[in-house]
Amino acid sequence: MHVPKRIRPQVHEPSQSGASNSQSAPREEGCIVIDAVAPVPTEHGTFTMCVFRWAGDDEEHVAMVRGDVEGKEGVAVRVHSECLTSEVFHSLKCDCREQLHAALEEIARRECGVLLYLRQEGRGIGLANKIRAYALQAHGADTVDANRMLGLPDDARRYDMAALMLRQLGVKSIKLMTNNPQKVEELRALGVDVEDRLPVLIPPNPYSAGYLEAKRVRMRHQLPSRPTSVTAVAFAPGAEQDAARGTPDAE
Ligand SMILES: [Zn+2]
Repeated sequence: MHVPKRIRPQVHEPSQSGASNSQSAPREEGCIVIDAVAPVPTEHGTFTMCVFRWAGDDEEHVAMVRGDVEGKEGVAVRVHSECLTSEVFHSLKCDCREQLHAALEEIARRECGVLLYLRQEGRGIGLANKIRAYALQAHGADTVDANRMLGLPDDARRYDMAALMLRQLGVKSIKLMTNNPQKVEELRALGVDVEDRLPVLIPPNPYSAGYLEAKRVRMRHQLPSRPTSVTAVAFAPGAEQDAARGTPDAE
């Protein structure tokens, strides 16, 4: 398998400088290393899996790469944050697993793209806090209020590592697979050229409908206001153009 020069693993010298994992310190490009690269066969075909790590930090993030993305414009990219409950245990409270697999499927269909898998569970608050928030949700709080009752931010995710990973892979511009306009704005602020947004519409189930509605109403996610009408995963022809026009339901 041809591995582009940019995604060959680099020998990493452990840093004593304490390049921190502080939530506020911005990542520096020189701190990023690709620790390992190998082809991984999946049910969506074979992807090149690149494990990224930052000097002085034990965090490992993953890029699942399909095709030759170096120097390419308009590359389909999903920036996906870890969700153990959905992806491993098939929890029905959110649509993360479905979004993950829809994105891999779309990248496979295009034979070109990148899925970045970031280790920031529970919108960045960690697994234990996420489950504490679920306990509050079991008593009626929505996802935003539950976080606030715990003194936690609505969304603590950060995308600086995603921007550096895309730069390291040599991707020139992207079409971002997301329903979240804040993710587009944050990546652009970090210097990523986001050409377009590709919606990822997953049909809700009785357990996820309230969560998706809270994301639509309280977190500006661009989801249909009548989600029961969504019967198929998006990426249908025309979805790209609709996204460029700011639909669906940019309210
Ligand atoms: Zn989830």
